[in-house]
Amino acid sequence: MNDRRRFLKLGALGTAAFAVGCAGTEAAREEATDQAPAAGPGGPVVLSTWDHGMAANAKAWEVLQAGGSVLDAVEQGVAVVESDLTNRSVGLGGMPDRDGFVTLDACIQDHDGRAGAVAFLQDIEHPISVARAIMERTPHVMLVGDGAQQWALANGFTKREVDLPEVRAAYAEWLKKAEYRPVANIENHDTIGLVAVDTGGRLAGSCTTSGMAYKVHGRVGDSPIIGAGLFVDGDVGAACATGTGELVIRVAGSHTVVELMRQGVEPEEACRQAVKRILAKHPGLKDHQVGFLALRKDGLHGACAVVDGFSYALHTREGNKLHKAAFLS
Ligand code: ASP
Repeated sequence: MNDRRRFLKLGALGTAAFAVGCAGTEAAREEATDQAPAAGPGGPVVLSTWDHGMAANAKAWEVLQAGGSVLDAVEQGVAVVESDLTNRSVGLGGMPDRDGFVTLDACIQDHDGRAGAVAFLQDIEHPISVARAIMERTPHVMLVGDGAQQWALANGFTKREVDLPEVRAAYAEWLKKAEYRPVANIENHDTIGLVAVDTGGRLAGSCTTSGMAYKVHGRVGDSPIIGAGLFVDGDVGAACATGTGELVIRVAGSHTVVELMRQGVEPEEACRQAVKRILAKHPGLKDHQVGFLALRKDGLHGACAVVDGFSYALHTREGNKLHKAAFLS
């Protein structure tokens, strides 16, 4: 079997094997077809979560058009959303934890797999830039909490304290019952994850969030965890996630999506299989959302979510448009 034929067989097998519960049987092998996978449109492609992805995509596109690197594009794209103080789920305008603190998580990964992350960070406007600086200026991948803040302040970042009456009032209202229901809906979540590929097929991704509203003080979700909220493999593609972070972490969600693509599974199907895995491991799951985005090296992309309502923004040469993801329950 020549290499291309073997790749196609394995690709189709990847899909078939998961469809039969990872049985990986000879029967599944027989069902595999030699259909060539759809070719992607080539870069640049910028793909990001939720409606706020439109603004992030526009900025990322502008950076790429101006000759910036794909890493600059993914950083500067999500930074727009971090600076938007009307956004209640990303950046310093985000909802607080149950003790009243806004704590931020972010990560970034480049084409070569280098990665930086920051978690449980307070009073810094751009956690994504802190994550990138950690990647570029330390031997580490992740810094958290006070240590991360101290490092950021010692490395050129400045403190910004934000006090928003609307957020304070909502928190005061929540405190009356102080009921923590980890229900992901449009009000209490909306991480921005952004993945991009340039004309040369170079990939990068970024992810930043204030996390679940009223989370336990100290809680870290999937968004700053490489392999959970974001994963980039320059040989294959990139994926990012949004929704209830605990569900994403348990299946190493974004890594799962990229590994499926490595086996030849197309991006939307890879997202679907990752969602299926979450559903299979959490029977009776209710009121939680998880959405995945996948971008293959050749620009082919896809999305899938647990429930209806996951929107994503896609910027190609045809323009920047908002789409609704497929969903499985
Ligand atoms: N994934 C984020 C977290 O768990 C929240 C979200 O995307 O909705 O912190």
